[in-house]
Amino acid sequence: MKRCKDYAAHYPKWNDWKWQVANRITTADGIAGFLGMTEAEKNDVGQCLSAFRMAITPYYASLIDPNDPDDPIRKVCVPSIQETYPCENDMADPLGEVSDSPVPHIVHRYPDRVLFLITLRCSTYCRYCTRRRVVGEEDRIITEPELKTALWYIRSHPEIRDVLISGGDPLVMSTEKLEHILSELRAIPHVDIIRIGTRVPVVLPMRITEELLAMLKKYQPIWINTHFAHPQEITPASGRACAAIVDAGIPLGNQTVLLRGINDRAEILKELFLKLVHLRVRPYYLYQCDLSQGIGHFRTTVDEGIEIMHALTGNISGYAVPKFVIDAPGGGGKVPINYNYVLSKDNREVVMENFRGEIYRYPQPAVRQNRADNPPTE
Ligand SMILES: *Cc1c(COP(=O)(O)O)cnc(C)c1O
Ligand code: SF4
Repeated sequence: MKRCKDYAAHYPKWNDWKWQVANRITTADGIAGFLGMTEAEKNDVGQCLSAFRMAITPYYASLIDPNDPDDPIRKVCVPSIQETYPCENDMADPLGEVSDSPVPHIVHRYPDRVLFLITLRCSTYCRYCTRRRVVGEEDRIITEPELKTALWYIRSHPEIRDVLISGGDPLVMSTEKLEHILSELRAIPHVDIIRIGTRVPVVLPMRITEELLAMLKKYQPIWINTHFAHPQEITPASGRACAAIVDAGIPLGNQTVLLRGINDRAEILKELFLKLVHLRVRPYYLYQCDLSQGIGHFRTTVDEGIEIMHALTGNISGYAVPKFVIDAPGGGGKVPINYNYVLSKDNREVVMENFRGEIYRYPQPAVRQNRADNPPTE
């Protein structure tokens, strides 16, 4: 692919998502030519590709500024030699998803909901992916026998009322295959909501077609969670994709990974979250970066995340502030991490700090051991 100003005019099928997937940039030569890399940079990419694959949709690549070596989108999708450096805490399965998996493709960790990984394929691979050991290793979607087993598991566990379909990226599948899975899930009476986790609105917005939305609408209630990492990803095309999803009556949330050198400043995340709320996308989670292999250079300290949350909370609309969580290594699940606003707390009062750092006191009600022992006195 050649760089140009108006891609849609030069590439007649630019807005066809299948063309975008078929024409992904997957080789060191491909990305080096597109970004004008030096031979040394190209060799570095080649070396990374022997460990973790690369794929970038032409649309997403077109958002990179080739003259900026620190371009955030470039860092998200183009391999850097740092991925090949071993880091002491790296884990192949940082979230313990293998041990919480009762049958292939299902992760059952929380009481009322499961994660259902229906594909290993994405249109664009994020360098910091938490499932990078499996995602992108092979371009595989769930087979029919595996699907039968996973559905059997969900059917035989009536406590499951929320199924979170993820991967990989479920919206890179054909509409027919996805509909097959959704219709099977919808036929299970105790499945209340179905959620889809997808990065398609960001990296392949042309996939959000009328045909796809008409299909999804048949299986409501559906919620979609997408994955914007930086304000530069918000474009007219991604904005249209988000608007189309919300206009179809599907609530849209967003999760963002906190990434060193990409979005680790309060100003950047504030701009991102406010723009998302403008698009009617609710920031849901901000994740501390996981311990997947070869992504140590993306990790910030936890304190940096807490400081960013502190800078945002109270200063911008509550709707624009996500929950900051660490997905506990080893399979502990998501743990909310907060700035500590409570300075002291006893039976008499709670002393707390507000968003400006001013001190306030909340008097506790008189303590009663037991209501029966303390009947209300008139
Ligand atoms: C994140 C996650 C969920 C969904 O959690 P919510 O907090 O409800 O969004 C479910 N199962 C697994 C294994 C997860 O990692
Ligand atoms: S879209 Fe999600 S699953 Fe796919 S590479 Fe990015 S983080 Fe991983």
